[in-house]
Amino acid sequence: SKTKSRFVVGSHVWIEDADEAWMDGQVEEVNGEDLVINCTNGKKATVNLSTAFPKDTESPRGGVEDMTRLAYLHEPGVLQNLKSRYALNEIYTYTGNILIAVNPFQRLPHLYNNHMMGIYKGAEFGELSPHPFAITDRAYRLMINDRISQAILVSGESGAGKTESTKSLMQYLAFMGGKAKAEGRSVQEQILESNPVLEAFGNAKTVRNNNSSRFGKFVEIQFDQYGKISGAAIRTYLLERSRVCQISDPERNYHCFYMLCASPPEDRDKFKVGEAKTFHYLNQSNCIDLNGFDDSKEYIETRRAMGIVGMSNDEQDAIFKVVAAILHLGNIEFGEGSEPDSSAPKDDKSKFHLKTAAELFMCDAKGLEESLCKRVMATRGESITKNLDAKGAALSRDALSRIVYSRLFDWLVNKINSSIGQDPDSKILIGVLDIYGFESFKTNSFEQFCINLTNEKLQQHFNQHVFKMEQEEYTKEEIDWSYIQFVDNQEILDLIEKKPGGIIALLDETCMLRNSTHETFAEKLYQKYKDNPHFSKPKFSRSDFTVHHYAGNVTYQTDLFLDKNIDYAVNEHQILLNASKCPFVSSLFPPVEEAAKNTKFTSIGSSFKQQLQSLLETLSATEPHYIRCIKPNNVLKPAIFENSNVLQQLRCGGVLEAIRISCLGYPTRRTFYEFVNRFGILHPKALSKGNTEITSTKMILEKANLVGYQIGKTKVFLRAGQMAELDALRTEV
Ligand code: ATP
Ligand code: MG
Repeated sequence: SKTKSRFVVGSHVWIEDADEAWMDGQVEEVNGEDLVINCTNGKKATVNLSTAFPKDTESPRGGVEDMTRLAYLHEPGVLQNLKSRYALNEIYTYTGNILIAVNPFQRLPHLYNNHMMGIYKGAEFGELSPHPFAITDRAYRLMINDRISQAILVSGESGAGKTESTKSLMQYLAFMGGKAKAEGRSVQEQILESNPVLEAFGNAKTVRNNNSSRFGKFVEIQFDQYGKISGAAIRTYLLERSRVCQISDPERNYHCFYMLCASPPEDRDKFKVGEAKTFHYLNQSNCIDLNGFDDSKEYIETRRAMGIVGMSNDEQDAIFKVVAAILHLGNIEFGEGSEPDSSAPKDDKSKFHLKTAAELFMCDAKGLEESLCKRVMATRGESITKNLDAKGAALSRDALSRIVYSRLFDWLVNKINSSIGQDPDSKILIGVLDIYGFESFKTNSFEQFCINLTNEKLQQHFNQHVFKMEQEEYTKEEIDWSYIQFVDNQEILDLIEKKPGGIIALLDETCMLRNSTHETFAEKLYQKYKDNPHFSKPKFSRSDFTVHHYAGNVTYQTDLFLDKNIDYAVNEHQILLNASKCPFVSSLFPPVEEAAKNTKFTSIGSSFKQQLQSLLETLSATEPHYIRCIKPNNVLKPAIFENSNVLQQLRCGGVLEAIRISCLGYPTRRTFYEFVNRFGILHPKALSKGNTEITSTKMILEKANLVGYQIGKTKVFLRAGQMAELDALRTEV
């Protein structure tokens, strides 16, 4: 049969290996269906021939810059190529139009300087080494020439290098589209300086990344008709709120807290803060200092950047007062109050922090205490005041801290947007997306659920795009592609976000019902989706559920789904801070209209779903470009490349899916010249003088008895596996 002829004694192959994912070797014996392999690492293995993959022995030592140039487009080939390039500090590689970026975990400044930007400016795509500048340059030129908006989508898991890549391509856009401005701050400067501001308030050290962005970001850069930057808008997604009150060792809270505690003495006096380790919100973790990160320097740097993006000194002070107030809130502990089941600040220390928080918020201290220790319940038109016990008061305190911080973050984003300004006349833009990749941890909660929804949606967008590009290539070469099918993840998206009936809709319904718990929510899910192939109930659990995502199965713990989905400021907190004498604080809590108050609650899940919807609408009006970031190891060190880890990411990032789609068609494309060069030896007669390269190609293919390939206008298109068959024939010659 056809597969049999793929391997002969002496063929070079890849076979699977438990430790290394793939190992290479040479066929020593062929026994029917079995191959005996002599592996390069010394092992000897017998495998079924269907599990072996051909290895190209002619690929250059340093790998190829574009993986579609690989003789064999399969997992081990892709992996080997990335690995050999990484060893030479060649961290960028193309797969067709997709840029793969492997995190070097060391500064490579020569790659990103002005000189490099000058080199990439206007260079033909593919002529220079793969680089984010090349992707950006292509996007910029397509925008200018075709007058079509572009998007650059950067993805990858935490610590893979999304934010660093995003910054380098924004730097390139500023270089290409920057306007010289006579006075004040230029738009491009403000766009670049928005990064350190957002990082100070939205990034934190996690186990996966010392500077992890805890929010998603889409930056829309607007251009005028001359291709100069004329405005920008930043949209952010799902800031992780829980971090403000709860961190676990060895992680940190948001950088801004530590910066504030390391600020110059006069600022510390003004904001009434002491050392970081004295605050509960920071000292829950043993990690206070961050290697290579100077908090006091960063404080100065952040304030400088805040100035550039248009925040006045007074505004900056007001912002840091709020940050300080949150730290003091966190230090208020509650004990028993004077009435049964009531609560009050536990001791003098707690009273002091309460008073300080109130001073910083410029609100009434008594009012603050009541808003934490009491809750007004409204039932059928009546309202009764209920005491909260110490535990309830602590929860109320944390809820206040979280809502204040998230309103503060939104304020920063809005402020940046209004000072950069939008260009209403701009017709072309480049959007840059830096958003969390697929997540699957030991325990997964509502955040992972939303993040993975994002990735499902982006994956759908990606697949559709890759598919379209394939078709365009075939059309250009005038060959038939009608039978190529592709798998869509629409069913998983329906499961999650269909209205009514999807998981998000069910969650909202559950949240609105009295007396519901995460268990009643889970029960509803089990009943509703028991026959859904993308859903399952883990055997030994009463409240977990598993979604079969495109990138793998993820089991979610529903415990906090209800709490995390509800988005409102507790009425008492709202009233208190709205009445603050500080106009800044009061503006974070604008009065809620009576009507809005009665129309139940807003849910995080639904509003996030809508945000995503609108993001995808924006994206679908653009020409997309993809950068897939890869984290080569989990120890965050240079020069370590872990095979299985990388493969997993290639899978989740859709790179392997893109390759799979391409393999459904004609994964191997060679110009007639290249083909004749490699395979002329199979049919020397075909090379006779009078034959054109196309004729020779056809003759060689006929001699080899291949079927199903296609002859395009400039290239021959081979089906998956045909290259191996030809190589096997060559080995026998
Ligand atoms: P998260 O999802 O957690 O925000 P991320 O994908 O944005 O992660 P980055 O913060 O961009 O990851 O990168 C993590 C770290 O890796 C950086 O702080 C930097 O130390 C290193 N790094 C990433 N890309 C590069 C690069 N191109 N050159 C040098 N170092 C890099
Ligand atoms: Mg990031």
